[in-house]
Amino acid sequence: MSASDTTCQDCIDLMLDFVEGELPEDVRLKLEEHLGGCQPCEDFLSTYRVTPSVCRRAMVRDMPESVSLKLHQFLREELGREHKG
Ligand SMILES: [Zn+2]
Repeated sequence: MSASDTTCQDCIDLMLDFVEGELPEDVRLKLEEHLGGCQPCEDFLSTYRVTPSVCRRAMVRDMPESVSLKLHQFLREELGREHKG
């Protein structure tokens, strides 16, 4: 983790506004800083960017718990892999 206090969860929560350019400058910079150092979130963002707007809203707002858990598991695994180097 870097000095940034932005977590992967924050990233996912903010991604809708991020891709739509609705984030305030300071929040956007924090998010970009996190994305720059976090491959799983960067991958998630690329998926997110090609997803139609309507689905994006569903992804963020109506993400079922099972999906959310899977995503967290995925992020943990990806992060763990990175740490092993
Ligand atoms: Zn992340």
